[in-house]
Amino acid sequence: MAGQGEQGGAADETTTMSSGDEAPPGTTGTGEAVCPDCHGTGKQASGNCPTCDGTGKVIEGIGGG
Ligand SMILES: [Zn+2]
Repeated sequence: MAGQGEQGGAADETTTMSSGDEAPPGTTGTGEAVCPDCHGTGKQASGNCPTCDGTGKVIEGIGGG
């Protein structure tokens, strides 16, 4: 329903992308990959990994590239 997760972001598309994602989840030609920065732990010395937003996974393009 409306009113959930509204954020004043600059992007037009409101998705659950992390900063390390190359594309929104579900995008054709992309898939989940282990975060290269935290190696899937979702954490770094300073706290949650900013690259994967603490999920330990990022969305990367697969095939072609
Ligand atoms: Zn990470």
